[in-house]
Amino acid sequence: MTDAFDKCRLPEAGALAAAGLYPYYLPVEERPGGGEVVVGGRRVLMAGSNDYLALADDPRLKEAGAEALRRLGSGNSGSRVLNGTLALHETLERELAAFLGHEAAMVVSTGYQANLALSALFGPRDVLFADRRIHASLIDAARLGQAALRRYRHNDMTQLAGMLEAADPGVGAIVLTEGMFSVDGDLCDLPGIAKLAAHHGARVVLDSAHDAGLLGAGGRGAAEHHGLQSAVDVQTVTFSKCFGTLGGAVAGPRHVVHYLRHSARSALFSASLPPACTAAALAALDIVRTEPERRRAVMFTAERLRSGLVALGFGIAPGGTPTVSLRVGDRLTCCRFWAGLLEEGVLANVMLPPAVPEGEAMIRLSVTAAHTGGQVDRILGAVATVAACLGLLPGT
Ligand code: PMP
Repeated sequence: MTDAFDKCRLPEAGALAAAGLYPYYLPVEERPGGGEVVVGGRRVLMAGSNDYLALADDPRLKEAGAEALRRLGSGNSGSRVLNGTLALHETLERELAAFLGHEAAMVVSTGYQANLALSALFGPRDVLFADRRIHASLIDAARLGQAALRRYRHNDMTQLAGMLEAADPGVGAIVLTEGMFSVDGDLCDLPGIAKLAAHHGARVVLDSAHDAGLLGAGGRGAAEHHGLQSAVDVQTVTFSKCFGTLGGAVAGPRHVVHYLRHSARSALFSASLPPACTAAALAALDIVRTEPERRRAVMFTAERLRSGLVALGFGIAPGGTPTVSLRVGDRLTCCRFWAGLLEEGVLANVMLPPAVPEGEAMIRLSVTAAHTGGQVDRILGAVATVAACLGLLPGT
């Protein structure tokens, strides 16, 4: 017999590590704030965080979390459905539902679990129409669910229209997308989806992991940005990005959330969100509601990064958001790019297959409300230096 563990030998990872190009699991030693972290004993610019509003280091979140930890303990030792529901969870659910404009919400322990919970909605008599670029957690939800999965090209409303047109009118149709896509930071065509869904009687499920807290005048996300909150039936959010902590939630009609509380396996069979994270998420929600200047600050900084990259000659997806990816192509060059940036004092993210299609390895950069214009210029300077060395700039 062959050894079932043969698949665990990853020669490519070993080769990358030997060449000093292994881009994963880099331990952060300290987080001094101000857009910087300490790795390998050096202060570097963090250009790979989704803490867009720079709340993870905010003293108000820290204090709310510490107070809840002291009062309620470090964990709940059980799932929501049995012994693990806190009054604090229910407060967060009420406030979140009101904020997002839904009847109810269910808080779970990560954004990943919030998306997995959706699988309970994807029944055997349903068809799921999903954008090709959706996040792995939504693909996993589709796999765990029983609905047939049809995927349309990224934001291609003509293809989606054709698919909906061709669908059996006897099935339950659900359109599944992200509000702000996690790799390129571009926005979904929600106006197009809303129109098609209304025409065909399809439900719209939106993952607002990256846009809740960031987009829209009130920070309610992509749906608010497009003025289409009532077109979204069910919305998932995470607390690990704009909300500066950990956790996630599904929001929607009361009967749907009630159903998920009793059938979503990721919620039923996993311990609930600890007190500290729950209290920190509540504190973050308060800040999201009352400090719109944080959104303005990060969007201003994002614009500086994006226009700087365009000036360097990079083709980037439109969107105006704080996340942006640079297409590099092959894996090795991408890892060299990442290592070169780190050498220059900038910690970015690499996106290698299977996170992205084969041949589309990329560097993902993101900025937060903590970054100054000067720091963005340092990121741009590092990108220019490394890209020029690798022959990736036009004319080099
Ligand atoms: N949805 C999207 C679009 C994401 O980018 C992520 C996190 N990368 C998640 C869901 C999962 O969120 P969490 O990290 O809180 O589990």
